[in-house]
Amino acid sequence: MGKYTQAKCRLCRREGRKLFLKGERCFTAKCPLERKGAIPPGQHGYKAARAKLNVYGQQLREKQKVKRIYGLRERQFRNLFLEAVKNPGATGIKLLQLLESRLDNVIYRLGFAPSRNAARQLVKHGHVQVNKKKVTIPSYQLRQGDVISLRKRIRENEEIKKSLEASEKRGLPVWVERKGVEGKFVRLPEREELDADIKEQLIVEFYSR
Ligand code: SF4
Repeated sequence: MGKYTQAKCRLCRREGRKLFLKGERCFTAKCPLERKGAIPPGQHGYKAARAKLNVYGQQLREKQKVKRIYGLRERQFRNLFLEAVKNPGATGIKLLQLLESRLDNVIYRLGFAPSRNAARQLVKHGHVQVNKKKVTIPSYQLRQGDVISLRKRIRENEEIKKSLEASEKRGLPVWVERKGVEGKFVRLPEREELDADIKEQLIVEFYSR
């Protein structure tokens, strides 16, 4: 599948919840879900909102939702799932932990970027270091204790300052720490610390059909 270029808000409407794809806008009244509610896009959106999904439909929607939250393409998402299967323990939880360990996600969690997409750009453009070494791969898997920092030339960027201010107000997840423009991936998140609205078992069932 190619890169998705349509309005991101349509994806949230499709999944019936906020996916937080547009940075600060998602926290304001400008978010269409705040104004109109979660009506699926398209001519038959109202009808689709009332339709009851079968089991396959529920599994598919759950997979699509999580894939879209983290901004991954199908192949990347499936590869992470296969990686999760190899690990001992519950596959669904491991999948979520692998998603959370991606460098672009941690940059976003640390508040260095307003969205995962913006975080991905920061990494791709060479503005990010892991343990003092430049890393340009957004999917880079962090390990516990890794230190993430922004390179000097980007530290004074206004967008980054705004993003840091906003995240200061909202607070950080407990599995990351930040001091100025340096952050740490302290540990893997526990399941109960992650989005309670995600039903990861449905994703496992989807790929196990
Ligand atoms: Fe989704 Fe953000 Fe658009 Fe709201 S503003 S619909 S949360 S992308």
